[in-house]
Amino acid sequence: MVDPNDPIYKKGDASQAGELGKAVIVDKTKLTPEQKAIYDKGMLNNAFNQYASDMISVHRTLPTNIDAECKTEKYNENLPRTSVIVCFHNEAWSVLLRTVHSVLERTPEHLLEEIVLVDDFSDMDHTKRPLEEYMSQFGGKVKILRMEKREGLIRARLRGAAIATGEVLTYLDSHCECMEGWIEPLLDRIKRDPTTVVCPVIDVIDDNTFEYHHSKAYFTSVGGFDWGLQFNWHSIPERDRKNRTRAIDPVRSPTMAGGLFSIDKKYFEKLGTYDPGFDIWGGENLELSFKIWMCGGTLEIVPCSHVGHVFRKRSPYKWRTGVNVLKRNSIRLAEVWLDDYKTYYYERINNQLGDFGDVSARKKLRSDLGCKSFKWYLDNIYPELFVPGESVAKGEVRNSAVQPARCLDCMVGRHEKNRPVGTYQCHGQGGNQYWMLSKDGEIRRDESCVDYAGSDVMVFPCHGMKGNQEWRYNHDTGRLQHAVSQKCLGMTRDGAKLEMVQCQYDDPYQHWKFKEFNEAKAIEHGVKSPS
Ligand code: UDP
Ligand code: MN
Repeated sequence: MVDPNDPIYKKGDASQAGELGKAVIVDKTKLTPEQKAIYDKGMLNNAFNQYASDMISVHRTLPTNIDAECKTEKYNENLPRTSVIVCFHNEAWSVLLRTVHSVLERTPEHLLEEIVLVDDFSDMDHTKRPLEEYMSQFGGKVKILRMEKREGLIRARLRGAAIATGEVLTYLDSHCECMEGWIEPLLDRIKRDPTTVVCPVIDVIDDNTFEYHHSKAYFTSVGGFDWGLQFNWHSIPERDRKNRTRAIDPVRSPTMAGGLFSIDKKYFEKLGTYDPGFDIWGGENLELSFKIWMCGGTLEIVPCSHVGHVFRKRSPYKWRTGVNVLKRNSIRLAEVWLDDYKTYYYERINNQLGDFGDVSARKKLRSDLGCKSFKWYLDNIYPELFVPGESVAKGEVRNSAVQPARCLDCMVGRHEKNRPVGTYQCHGQGGNQYWMLSKDGEIRRDESCVDYAGSDVMVFPCHGMKGNQEWRYNHDTGRLQHAVSQKCLGMTRDGAKLEMVQCQYDDPYQHWKFKEFNEAKAIEHGVKSPS
């Protein structure tokens, strides 16, 4: 079944597409109709360009312009061995093989216990016999563990851990490429202290061209989260930056992205691994991150360790229908780890918790481990996070000049940072209509702030310097005034769009109501506008 003439098996041909991590640009207009059909199918099945990947060697070389200091760094001579666990569901052949080869070819033999491929109930033919035949050439070094039903990546990872024999577990997604020297800096940190959990720098492999973007140590980011319980990245905060002598020093991170990390196997077990009640995808990274910090461990990003990952814009496979899996996972996480802070998340989902199952065993785990409070975590590990409790007003921002009433609405999140703010029929679900008025007069959701610079009302990343992001609000008159321009927020007569206009006291189109408002705080912080 494996065709040895397929270009993906070529080794050491520097002229081949994609070598040194270069982009492979496929001009679709030059493809025959048959090729076009293959191209489209690859995109549909994977949400990345499988057609491009199928032109690149599974042994391809990666960029060589790594940080010079990492080349001379010395690591412990007695590092623990790791099992590398890769879960997959219908991963493309060339992409999965490239992941495996990058591990085999760039991990010193004596540090690699095994690779465990956990097949999460794939149904594509290439994941069956052909995969077994191909992997048999590595003499048992690569094991395949099959799930009997779709487990989702969280339970699949746990099943992989259960059969892994290495002292350290290293998790990777099934569309990764490890760089030379990726594992030593990770294992070195665990060798020093087994309660340190480490992540490589996750380099971006372009989902369209498979270009490998190597990121310099100087630009290392760390993980955070927002009150929608979504993971995000931010730059190293000042208080950590000033303690660092070199850009390549490991840096502590409040959270991990989730897919790529190494952990001492015994320590993972001691921490109660993952919540097995989590389905398919999502939330497990925050659960593990909070648990590590609150229960006495450390979470770090190690700038000399680099692994590329194909980031994609949508999820290509079927999720369980009828249940919002991510929301259910997040509620379980909030119930167990967030203490009273869980209400901030619940407000964002309008307190519609639904059935999230039984979490008593996870609560018991937390108390058995004697973990610290979430307040401790916020104060000590993530003081940069905006805590909604400090806000002056919150909830939907409603305008009843037209019926049905309109609410301020904007989709912001991981991929949408700068967007116009609009109005939409009030839906009472929180989500894109949930806003907070901060004590600095920002109208914000997480790290996004409503900003007016003279044309459209937009959201931009909050900069904390007032300016175009400062508003004053009067709950009695409903006036929402922009401090710098002195203009008021209004709507067009049909309610379809926002406009910034001359303030007019009795214009219902300038009349906004925050769902909840704290008068005393508004006066204290000078956020209240004169009526
Ligand atoms: N995965 C899995 N079962 C699932 C969903 C995902 O085994 O039900 C695997 C998937 O093949 C990938 C990893 O889990 O190797 C993470 O999923 P994905 O890459 O879709 O998540 P993302 O990186 O986009 O967050
Ligand atoms: Mn992935």
